[in-house]
Amino acid sequence: MNAEIIAVGSELLLGQIANTNAQFISERLAEVGVNVFYHTSVGDNPARLEEVIKHAEERADLLIFTGGLGPTKDDLTKETIARSLGVSLSMDEEAMDSIRAYFEKVGRVMTPNNEKQALILEGSVPLKNDFGMAPGMVFQQSGKAYILLPGPPSEMRPMFSTYGVPAVMRLMKRKEVIHSRVLRFFGIGESQLEADLEELIDRQTNPTIAPLAGDGEVTLRLTAKHESKDVAETLLNELESEIRQTVGEYLYGYDQDSLEGVGFRLLKEKGLTLAAAESLTAGLFQSSLASIAGASSVLEGGVVCYQDSVKRNVLNVREETLKNYGAVSRECAIELAANVRTLFKSDIGISFTGVAGPEAQGDLPPGTVWIGIASGDEEPRAYKLTLAGSRNGNRSRTVKYGWHYLVK
Ligand code: ATP
Ligand code: MG
Repeated sequence: MNAEIIAVGSELLLGQIANTNAQFISERLAEVGVNVFYHTSVGDNPARLEEVIKHAEERADLLIFTGGLGPTKDDLTKETIARSLGVSLSMDEEAMDSIRAYFEKVGRVMTPNNEKQALILEGSVPLKNDFGMAPGMVFQQSGKAYILLPGPPSEMRPMFSTYGVPAVMRLMKRKEVIHSRVLRFFGIGESQLEADLEELIDRQTNPTIAPLAGDGEVTLRLTAKHESKDVAETLLNELESEIRQTVGEYLYGYDQDSLEGVGFRLLKEKGLTLAAAESLTAGLFQSSLASIAGASSVLEGGVVCYQDSVKRNVLNVREETLKNYGAVSRECAIELAANVRTLFKSDIGISFTGVAGPEAQGDLPPGTVWIGIASGDEEPRAYKLTLAGSRNGNRSRTVKYGWHYLVK
C-alpha cells in the first residue's frame, strides 16, 4: 500500500508553520510498512484542493489529509472532499454530543458554526478526538482509502497513533498489532546515546529502535509488531531492559512523561514540599511546576532574586559570599537554596543562578550556571552547568537540569 499525505492550510504555504504533521504521520506509516510516496501541501482553497485530490488518487491508494476540520469558514477540507467524491455529509451524533458537552463544561454558549465539526462523510468511520472537538474519519470508495485528521498536532498525533494506525492496519488486512513505547532520556546527548547503543540499534529488527532528539532531551521509540499483544509487550520489555543496562541512568520516563511531571510525582509520593530561589530563570522553574495539576501539594513558593540586593536582603546571602565569589558561584547557589528553604519552611530548597547570555558576565561565559539544592539532613549540594544555547534556550535548559538533579 502506498500513501500520499496532504496537509491543508495556507499557513504552511506562507511559511508560518512547518509541516510537522506529515513528518509524524510518515514516521508512523514507515513503522507499519506503508510507503509514503508524496507529501503535498495546499492552501485553504477548494479548487486547488480538488486538483490535489485528483492527482493523489492517480498515484496513491491511501490519501491522508490533515487540517481544515475546524469550525471556521476557511476550514473546507471535508466539504471539498465530499464534493470531489460525490458523497454527502451527515451529522455524527456522538461527536455532536461531545462538542455540546465541551461547551457546557467550559460554560460557553455554542455558536452554530461549531455543529459543522460534527459532520462526517456519509458512510465513513469516525475517529474519536480525545483532545479536541472535530472528529477524524476513515472513508473508502472505488479502491481508495481516505483518512481525515485535524490540524493541531496535539489532537492529530494521539488520534493517529491510537485510532489511525489500527485503521490503516485493517485497511491492509494485517493482523499483527503495532505496539510502541517511547523511552525518554535527559542528561545525555543524542550522538552519545546512539554511540552507546549502536550495536543494539543495528541488530534490532523487531522491535525496532528509532532515536529522536529535541529540546535537550533524547527519546527512543521502540516499536514491536506481533499478532499477540502480550508477546509484543514482552518483546518491548526485553529490549527496554537491555537498553537500561547501558544508558539506564539517563532514563527518566515514558511516552508523554515530562521531566517536571516525573519530578512532581516523585516529590508528591514522598510528601515533600519545595521552594525556589530563581535568578536567571526568574520564575520559569516554579512556572514549570505550577503547570501541573495538583502543584500546590508540592510548591510552597519562591523568590525571583534577579538583583544582588534581593539575594542579600530577601534571601540573606552573605555580603562576603557575593564579594568573594560573586552571585554566579557554588557558594551563592548553596546559600540561596538553603535560605529559601528556611524562608518558606519547605522540605527542599532549590536555586538557580547563572549567566543567561548573550553577553559574558565578567570572566564568566554565557551559559555558566549553578544550581543549588538543599534537602534533608545532607549538606546542600550544587551543580555547575556549561550551556551553549541562546539566552532563552539556556534558561529553559537550566530548569530541566533542575528537575534532573532533583530526581537523581
Ligand atoms: P481547528 O479546529 O483548530 O481550526 P483544523 O483541523 O481546522 O483545526 P487548521 O485550522 O488547518 O486545523 O489548523 C489549526 C492549527 O493546527 C494551525 O494553526 C497549526 O498551528 C496547526 N497545523 C495545521 N496543519 C499543520 C501541519 N501540517 N503541521 C503542523 N501543524 C499544523
Ligand atoms: Mg481550522
